[in-house]
Amino acid sequence: MSLIVSKFGGSSVSDAASINRVADRIVAMKTQGHDVVVVVSAMGDTTDELIDLAEQVVGSSEPPQREMDILLTAGERISMALLAMAIDSRGVPAQAFTGQQAGLITDASHGNARIIDVTPGRITECLGTGSVAIVAGFQGVNPDANDVTTLGRGGSDTTAVALAAGLGADVCEIYTDVDGVFTADPRIVPTARRIERITSDEMLEMAAHGAKILHLRSVEYARRFGVEIHVRSSFSMKEGTHVITPSEEEEGEMEAPIISGVAHDRSQAKVTCVGVPDVPGAAARLFETVAGAGVNIDMIVQNVSVAATGKTDISFTLPASDVALVRAALSLLADELGYDDVLYQDDIGKLSLVGAGMRSHPGVSAKLFGSLRDAGVNIEMISTSEIRISVVTAADQLDTAVRAVHTAFGLDAAEVEAVVYGGSGR
Ligand code: ADP
Ligand code: ASP
Ligand code: MG
Repeated sequence: MSLIVSKFGGSSVSDAASINRVADRIVAMKTQGHDVVVVVSAMGDTTDELIDLAEQVVGSSEPPQREMDILLTAGERISMALLAMAIDSRGVPAQAFTGQQAGLITDASHGNARIIDVTPGRITECLGTGSVAIVAGFQGVNPDANDVTTLGRGGSDTTAVALAAGLGADVCEIYTDVDGVFTADPRIVPTARRIERITSDEMLEMAAHGAKILHLRSVEYARRFGVEIHVRSSFSMKEGTHVITPSEEEEGEMEAPIISGVAHDRSQAKVTCVGVPDVPGAAARLFETVAGAGVNIDMIVQNVSVAATGKTDISFTLPASDVALVRAALSLLADELGYDDVLYQDDIGKLSLVGAGMRSHPGVSAKLFGSLRDAGVNIEMISTSEIRISVVTAADQLDTAVRAVHTAFGLDAAEVEAVVYGGSGR
């Protein structure tokens, strides 16, 4: 008998029939003798719909973050209660718990709260009575203010991993609408191949650069606490993907694939400060200002300015949702720094090639750039890590770029196996 934490994403519980299907699956686990804790997301696109509603209500102003969290946590509360009822109606006792009741303690950062402690006493008690515990994903409580918080979009994965760590579960299963982690998003690359085992290092790079199959922080958490993540479909019985954290010794023995996959990200924007005086300290001042606005940047490029000699153009990428913050911060800096103009572009896309084996294989960048050239894709920016190369392209060239690179690195499957079972891709 093992203790399993299983998380079901929004597309797996999108309507009453899906909730019943998931309930059957959980009852089957229970019948096999396992203790089961289930984490659920909001039904279908509920979270997006609630955000749309809030925007309609407040018009052009920003909704207050505390109230926004109260609104969004309602989505997960609906699915947790319905799933508990569905399981109970099959003769297996089940109880639903909010994030707060399940002991997910967070800091006070509404909309992107960090888990600071997990005290799952009520969950352990519930399991002790032979019941299935259902927990609302993506939410916790800030104990100082006794306010509910949310963990950021896609955060139910992190709830599941945190509970798996806190309860000492044998495995954390992430059930979703595709059969595991693929070499690229199956919605864009139908020839993508399922990856059987991926290291958490590679998965971190994929998730950090747009592969929304797993919430980035869930992978970080799993790595830190040694939780094994098993990603699989709730629509099929296929084996899925194991995300593993090998010890250094094991890693030495493993032959790493040169390339694990291609991730893409459409959520970034590019800011260019044109005609920044080319003097020591200018870049420091610019990025201090951006950091002061609480914005995380990704790539940076500095070039001789198109405006004049003695000046440089500095471009950087950031989440498109943070452009307004940067715009406000930079407008205060214009006189002090003396740049000519700031350009904002959100029609960009980012492609990232990830693979631990690229550490020891020359020629990966050359092949990447060659495949983009052959596909007629222009590269605007480049950045690298030890196991990743990212390029920025025009947004409307991103899909072409991803497919071309996927093929060039021999990642295409011989037979199409990348099925997308549900979800709107929103
Ligand atoms: P859930 O609602 O179950 O949390 P998400 O929509 O958050 O599901 O994540 C699953 C989606 O992630 C898939 O439908 C797929 O479009 C997308 N995805 C992006 N990159 C990958 C990848 N490399 N492998 C598999 N799926 C991916
Ligand atoms: N419902 C939340 C979202 O859509 C959390 C999650 O699904 O993981 O972002
Ligand atoms: Mg998700």
